[in-house]
Amino acid sequence: MPRVKGAIAVNCHIGDPCTPMSADNVVIIGGGVIGLMCAFLLKQEKIAALLLESEEVGRESSWAGAGILAPLYPLRYPQNIGDLARQSADLYRPITKQLFDLTGIDPEYHESGAIILDPDDKDQESEDNLRDKWRRPFQFFDKSELHQLEPSIKSAGPTALLLPDVAQVRNPRLLKALRAAVGTGGGIREQARVTGFEISEGRLVGIRAGEESIPASRCIVAAGAWSTQLLEAAGLSIAVRPVRGQILLVGAPPRALQRIVINEYRYLVPRRDGKILVGSTMEEVGFDKSTTKQARLDLLGAAIAMMPSLADYPIEAQWAGLRPGVPDNLPFIGEHPEVKGLFVCTGHYRNGLALAPASAQLVVDLLLGRPPRLDPKPFSLDRPLGLKSAN
Ligand SMILES: Cc1cc2nc3c(=O)[nH]c(=O)nc-3n(C[C@H](O)[C@H](O)[C@H](O)COP(=O)(O)OP(=O)(O)OC[C@H]3O[C@@H](n4cnc5c(N)ncnc54)[C@H](O)[C@@H]3O)c2cc1C
Repeated sequence: MPRVKGAIAVNCHIGDPCTPMSADNVVIIGGGVIGLMCAFLLKQEKIAALLLESEEVGRESSWAGAGILAPLYPLRYPQNIGDLARQSADLYRPITKQLFDLTGIDPEYHESGAIILDPDDKDQESEDNLRDKWRRPFQFFDKSELHQLEPSIKSAGPTALLLPDVAQVRNPRLLKALRAAVGTGGGIREQARVTGFEISEGRLVGIRAGEESIPASRCIVAAGAWSTQLLEAAGLSIAVRPVRGQILLVGAPPRALQRIVINEYRYLVPRRDGKILVGSTMEEVGFDKSTTKQARLDLLGAAIAMMPSLADYPIEAQWAGLRPGVPDNLPFIGEHPEVKGLFVCTGHYRNGLALAPASAQLVVDLLLGRPPRLDPKPFSLDRPLGLKSAN
């Protein structure tokens, strides 16, 4: 449960740039997919938010991810994740089209479909649950049919589950497109690390970035795995921690694989150019983003077990990113319980790309004081965090 420490009240002083003139600023902290999506949605409401990024926009977890636009095992996640995922899935096609029209950058959204090998949710009860929870098309099929769908895939189990409309994006391109769409008009500042908040009488009045004070009446903290440290400066302690994930890129030829294939949290994601991403590890190593030989061996072994022909192709790259991990798989989306105007949208763990449009829409609705399309309560900052992780 988040803790609110004694109120931190940093008032504006005479001479500070914190003047009423621009006190209605909206600031977004963090330039990953969540912060950029918030800025994009606000821009559509004709609100020019200022996005502050401590390093370079779109280079952390959102860049490192595999771009699958659905939770890997729908039944293992809380219902609320299903709600965010479904709403996001509906928003992704129009948003990516709009981004392409605005910027000329194609995020390569495409409904490649996904196959889960040997799923654990294949009995009648699970099938009914899946129908209730997933509420999108799905089909169980047996091993002989797998060969017709994906001839290069080998499965040890007797059945598989097809999720035909699961989509993927080329996330580095999505980030570039968002950046281009948001950045016009000077809405992004890089190398601007936020260090604290200015709070007066329980209201946000400004943001501290080192020596600089930026007036703001509303802000959204979207600082991914770094959100916990940052929010400590506003007296709030939320349970977000870094969870390292590593990925390999294999130089397979075009059409070697059509669909995303998942086997117990290891997965293959075929890109349009034929290259295949192999993901991913889950490692509790703090803020260490280095790659390891062990992960390379583990991922390659899992990949070859699923698709033996991958042994013939070169590994072209390996990288790592830090997911914003949470104990109950639910992101934190809402307003600071004691500081008006300080909003948070973080903790998307393994699903930040999949959930970005709906999460950003939810926090933007709250910030604008509009009735939200989804009930925000399950994501509130002061919810009890007792649920077991699905991972
Ligand atoms: C290997 C791997 C595979 C993944 N695959 C998928 C997938 O297929 N599908 C999916 O949905 N999700 C996937 N994820 C998870 C997904 O990438 C994350 O949930 C998502 O990117 C989180 O987005 P974010 O914007 O919150 O965080 P980030 O992308 O990490 O962005 C946070 C930003 O905040 C900035 N920042 C931090 N502190 C400050 C500060 N004090 N001031 C200013 N800026 C600050 C950081 O520099 C960073 O740019 C994967 C993750 C990994 C690592």
